[in-house]
Amino acid sequence: MSDAHGPTDDATTDEFEPIQVFPEAEEMDLRPGADNCYKCSTCDTNCPVAEVDDEFPGPKFQGPEQWRLKRQDDHDVDESVMKCSNCMRCDSACPSDVPLSQMHNTARGEYVDEQMDTFSREYVRNRILANYRRLAPLGSMFPRTTNFVMGLSVTQWLGEKLLGITSEREFPSFATETFREWWERRGGHAASKKRAQEARERRGGAVSKTRAGEVPGARGDEQARNEEKRIAYFHGCYSNYNTPEVAKSLVRVYEHFGYEIVVPDQHCSGTPMFANGMLADARRSAETNVRELAAAIEDGADIVASCSSCSMSLRQEYPELFDLAGIEDVAANTWDAVEYLRVHEDLESELEGTTVDEDLSFAYHAPCHARNQGLDGQTVELLDRIDGVDAHDVGDSCSGISGTYGWKAENYETSMKIGSEMFEHMADANADTGLTECPTCSMQMEHGTGYDITHTLEVLDAALVGSATEGPGRE
Ligand code: SF4
Ligand code: SF4
Repeated sequence: MSDAHGPTDDATTDEFEPIQVFPEAEEMDLRPGADNCYKCSTCDTNCPVAEVDDEFPGPKFQGPEQWRLKRQDDHDVDESVMKCSNCMRCDSACPSDVPLSQMHNTARGEYVDEQMDTFSREYVRNRILANYRRLAPLGSMFPRTTNFVMGLSVTQWLGEKLLGITSEREFPSFATETFREWWERRGGHAASKKRAQEARERRGGAVSKTRAGEVPGARGDEQARNEEKRIAYFHGCYSNYNTPEVAKSLVRVYEHFGYEIVVPDQHCSGTPMFANGMLADARRSAETNVRELAAAIEDGADIVASCSSCSMSLRQEYPELFDLAGIEDVAANTWDAVEYLRVHEDLESELEGTTVDEDLSFAYHAPCHARNQGLDGQTVELLDRIDGVDAHDVGDSCSGISGTYGWKAENYETSMKIGSEMFEHMADANADTGLTECPTCSMQMEHGTGYDITHTLEVLDAALVGSATEGPGRE
């Protein structure tokens, strides 16, 4: 029964004493900040799923309203929380700092744990999609065979019939050599240390790092802590198994600036697990990642990630959802790879006067998770410095795929409707190539427009290190 109590009986004092309005309020897991919602509905008007799907009740309901209902009569979590794509646009939109995505992630976890049938096709499919890191090593053992089998229309048909994975999309190809295999073959950290030292000598022996405050950036007010010029690279799953060229470009660009690179053991960042309510899986991955990355920080490294969803996860979702030793340190020292160079190096000046092999125009899409980190303007601004490169921002709409969301057969049409604005703007840009920093946005961009898609780090690599495959520093 309630332990609520009324105003103080001590009539002699005028001091305010709070009244506990809701029964059992101390036991309820109300997200900090949920009560800050003043129902302005700004989050709802910024939700891409609510915009095209009339049945999705939107972030205000999924967040503060659902938590209020739960607090009052222990309501079940509404199943519509599984329709939230975890794009996190509502987080940035809320003027009252309500931690919407934290509430959605927690509600989704509770829904999956307590209300979802673990023998259902949906649960099995979501578990498979969320645990790409467990399947990818198998697929990449025999990449050519896997790519052949996954490319068959019968495989796609079976994927939809048996698991509910849309047959409209082509499965991503596995690289014939993973990034980590390449990294080991190249000599690992020892080779990187040597190359970084050579680059520092070429560049005059100076540690050219700018103090962070000198360069405007999302973290421009922070001190540059890493005096050793050492970074620990969180490559994530996709850059390792599917697009190692992105990871190799990161290595070359950072070594160009004289950084030695370490590549710690790592698991999936957890992004697809959060989006599917698989919080126990995400926690297991986070335990490994936090332990390894905290050790790298202890050794003088900062953490950089080439995928905007990975950096988002390490910076925001980890400390919001888990309580692990070192987690705050990892969050505070994790950066987007391009952002880090903008803040710690004079990247803009370094790019002045550089060029690429042939003139190129790009249609650039800023991923929602990059926007949420305040990074949406940096790519176009930087690429403008390279002679012969012309980058167009195609606007602030969501690509619609949101990781695993657009791979689910029941979400495919919604995903394409959300992406339609971006597709139109990309077509209007009439560029040579698409550009983004998120692997699944790049799948959607390619799927919706037919553009080839590249990563910002690959363009920086071409401009700073050389676009020819035999160019300096390449192997
Ligand atoms: S934007 Fe923030 S304050 Fe406004 S309704 Fe949504 S959660 Fe509430
Ligand atoms: S995370 Fe994205 S899809 Fe989910 S409620 Fe917020 S804005 Fe909508």
